[in-house]
Amino acid sequence: MRVTGRAGLGRSVYDAVVVGAGYIGCAVAFHLASAGLRTALLDRGGVAAGASRANYGNIQVQDAELGHSLALVKAGFARFASLEERLDASVGLRSLGGLLLIETEAQWRLMADRLPTLHAAGVEAELVTAGQLKEIEPLLDTSTLLGACYHRHEGQVNPFRLVWAYVQRGLEAGLELGLGVEVHGIDVAGGRVQGVRTSQGTLAASLVILCTGAWTPALGRDLGRDWQIRHVHGQAVVTEAVAGRLHNHIASAAFFETMHGDGETSQDEAVLALSQTAEGHFLLGEAGAPTRRLGSDARAGGQAAIAGLAARYFPALRQARVLRGWAAPVAFTGDGLPYLGPVDGIDGLALATAFKSTVIVTPLVGEMVAAWALGGQAEPTWGAFAPEREVAHGG
Ligand SMILES: Cc1cc2nc3c(=O)[nH]c(=O)nc-3n(C[C@H](O)[C@H](O)[C@H](O)COP(=O)(O)OP(=O)(O)OC[C@H]3O[C@@H](n4cnc5c(N)ncnc54)[C@H](O)[C@@H]3O)c2cc1C
Repeated sequence: MRVTGRAGLGRSVYDAVVVGAGYIGCAVAFHLASAGLRTALLDRGGVAAGASRANYGNIQVQDAELGHSLALVKAGFARFASLEERLDASVGLRSLGGLLLIETEAQWRLMADRLPTLHAAGVEAELVTAGQLKEIEPLLDTSTLLGACYHRHEGQVNPFRLVWAYVQRGLEAGLELGLGVEVHGIDVAGGRVQGVRTSQGTLAASLVILCTGAWTPALGRDLGRDWQIRHVHGQAVVTEAVAGRLHNHIASAAFFETMHGDGETSQDEAVLALSQTAEGHFLLGEAGAPTRRLGSDARAGGQAAIAGLAARYFPALRQARVLRGWAAPVAFTGDGLPYLGPVDGIDGLALATAFKSTVIVTPLVGEMVAAWALGGQAEPTWGAFAPEREVAHGG
């Protein structure tokens, strides 16, 4: 999509300022501008400068948090059926299945334990044996696998087409885009948000929405808040186009056993997360672990671990050349729930960040925040995701 329209900030007073131009910020800004609010979307970098430039675009049901998030995930998934029409743009949407590969009895039990809750919520998922897997995904070497958890109905978008479609349609609705604008702090007076202090001066706004991913805690500290958002330094690589086709995006059930550490664990260990673009390139990941360091350096050790793991499961990749690698900080929380909703005690300030799977909820979160901004009720309700909740760890 060729982006047309005026980028840049034309005023110093807005109805709403959205901070962070990743998936979530772009969707939120589009919905606010479309609702008629004078909206600015700010990012210290460019569009998709954070985790949103690092991902595969998979619309994943498979890793949903089961305690409180299923309504969100289901409603989010449903939005994709009409998304291209809503945005009047092709975002590379296609149907795809999802497989979580199972290597151990413990992982089999972990996956089996999820099924009753998924089924009760009307989500189709099943356990398949290694023999069935061979039929479902012929390129996969199943020799070390017990089977997989199979989500037949998932999908994929092109990440960049989606975020830019939101930006383009937002600009057409009057959105103003401030790139290279860093927010240093949020002004609050009398329990109400007044605006933001930025690298380019102060902007007044009665609504501020933080969609700032792994960088959110720093803005919270400025307000005396201790938002428990952590991040993983997620690394991946992309190969040249490969002739064989994948029918699913593929991750490991081991993801459910990892990433709960706290501190500086190895960034050079990989857990399988693999997908293919519509053009045939394989996206291979993922190395990384929770860290306190905020960076985007791709490490040789991590990249080698990823390539080795992918080649183990997909012999067809052994001859494929890696074109490039990257890394980005991906926000998560100890209880697996996002920080989504208004901030207690500061009228006009809301958070929308740290989703377990971001792509699937992107269109819905845009709508939910717009409903709140217009004084209505967000649907589904977001009480469990309140920024001021006590975050339990290990979920
Ligand atoms: C290899 C890999 C593959 C992945 N694949 C998938 C997938 O297939 N599906 C999926 O759902 N998820 C996937 N993810 C996770 C996904 O990429 C992230 O969850 C998602 O991009 C988060 O989007 P966001 O909009 O919340 O945050 P971000 O994209 O991180 O956006 C935050 C933005 O805020 C800006 N910002 C921060 N602080 C400030 C400030 N003070 N002032 C101004 N701007 C600021 C940043 O520059 C950044 O652009 C993957 C991650 C990795 C690493």
